[in-house]
Amino acid sequence: MASQVPLKHVVIVGGGFAGVGCAQILAGSDKVHVTLVDKHNYHQFQPLFYQLATSQLTPSDVGFSLRKIFRKLPNVDIKLAEVSAVDPKNHSVTTKEGQVYKGDFLVLAAGAQANFFNTPGAAANTFPLYSMNDAERLRSRILALFEDADRDAALIDQGALNFVIVGGGATGTEIAGSLADMIHSTVTAEYEDLAVKSACIYLVERGPTLLAPFSAKAHDYASKVLHRGGVVLKLGTAVNEVHPGHVVLSEGSTIKTRCVIWGAGLKAAAVASGAGLPQGRGGRINVQHDLSVEGFPGVYALGDVANITGADGNALPQLGSVAQQSGRWAAKNILADIEGQPRTAFHYHDKGIMAMIGRNAAVAEVGEHRHELEGTVAYSMWLGVHLALLTSMQVKIETLIDWVWDYFSKGRGPQLLDRSDAGRINWYDDDTDAEKRGAA
Ligand SMILES: Cc1cc2nc3c(=O)[nH]c(=O)nc-3n(C[C@H](O)[C@H](O)[C@H](O)COP(=O)(O)OP(=O)(O)OC[C@H]3O[C@@H](n4cnc5c(N)ncnc54)[C@H](O)[C@@H]3O)c2cc1C
Repeated sequence: MASQVPLKHVVIVGGGFAGVGCAQILAGSDKVHVTLVDKHNYHQFQPLFYQLATSQLTPSDVGFSLRKIFRKLPNVDIKLAEVSAVDPKNHSVTTKEGQVYKGDFLVLAAGAQANFFNTPGAAANTFPLYSMNDAERLRSRILALFEDADRDAALIDQGALNFVIVGGGATGTEIAGSLADMIHSTVTAEYEDLAVKSACIYLVERGPTLLAPFSAKAHDYASKVLHRGGVVLKLGTAVNEVHPGHVVLSEGSTIKTRCVIWGAGLKAAAVASGAGLPQGRGGRINVQHDLSVEGFPGVYALGDVANITGADGNALPQLGSVAQQSGRWAAKNILADIEGQPRTAFHYHDKGIMAMIGRNAAVAEVGEHRHELEGTVAYSMWLGVHLALLTSMQVKIETLIDWVWDYFSKGRGPQLLDRSDAGRINWYDDDTDAEKRGAA
């Protein structure tokens, strides 16, 4: 009887685009067993968080059960746990709950988190948008503010309907457009007593343009669409301080607000630090061309947590497609390691960049030659590229139906206020600071 070769164990931290992409390829091999550890039991589709936050989609449209994704792949185990320590020399991780998972290979794919750049008050008083919890908390705050102002119009003078979005990249621009759509459609139709015209969205960007990586034409298009939606653009302006009831801008003025949305920057997830791994910009783990970490054989870092160099020598952007492709590539290199074959250098197939600015309004620069598109064509392109990021054909079909239905029905998902923001429910009482400063 032939002796059985023991399976190699791969521990993956993170079930995002990178971790799932990696596990799906490894699942096809009879030589490995995978343990996928995530602090959520679902895979999150971050590109649509802004639609969850503005009640356009529901949590089940943007979160997909990890167990369901891997149900038919018996060599992948899912563990719901938060990794608190990484031992890259031993390919092991320890969770907050006290378990240790040790593999022959360790794959770090834990994504990114908000970077507040030490802006005073930002961590405590803003709403970042990097997890489904963040998006639901923000949705609750937005709905609560409309309910409050509808009940007590005096709160509008305290900034109840001023929304400040920090950062004019894709996240800030998309949430600004979607919030403007929400105010003009649903809020106008459903809150009869509310002075909807008092609502104001400010989009504050330190640089001179929105959507910096895009062309000048796209910058103009995005500004025009947002302007038409009533969004006030404050370009070349930074948010210097965030207080519970107002923000202070670099030009010295203040804006009263009870809702500051933080889309200004990212840094690597916490697991990247403290384990002696080489870190670069934003704390991301520096990887070699084959996605492994120098000095730590058997350790790979992928997606947003990694600093991956592209063919032009620049760091690749933190995008779903980079994460997914790096996940699949690393899996092939792990299988090559197991079979004693050489690893290959990661080649990113660039499908382009795109951003939604509102219903029927999007910009896209497609392919490596950056063919420029806008409007409905760009919106359709966005749908195609993002559907490709979804994890299975069944999920793709169900999600496409939801998105298309949402688009044509012009409706919003259930605007249920779940008070997940309840910890800060006294948000009108704690602004003595602002009073002292005489905030505008
Ligand atoms: C609001 C927003 C909009 C975006 N829009 C687009 C877009 O339109 N197009 C595009 O291509 N990209 C977009 N992106 C970027 C894209 O979503 C990311 O690049 C991509 O999700 C990165 O994938 P990842 O697998 O590296 O990390 P993630 O998708 O962030 O997954 C990381 C996983 O690790 C888990 N994790 C983290 N820490 C731990 C821990 N300590 N223990 C256990 N598990 C942990 C998390 O729960 C998560 O499931 C957007 C991002 C955001 C935030």
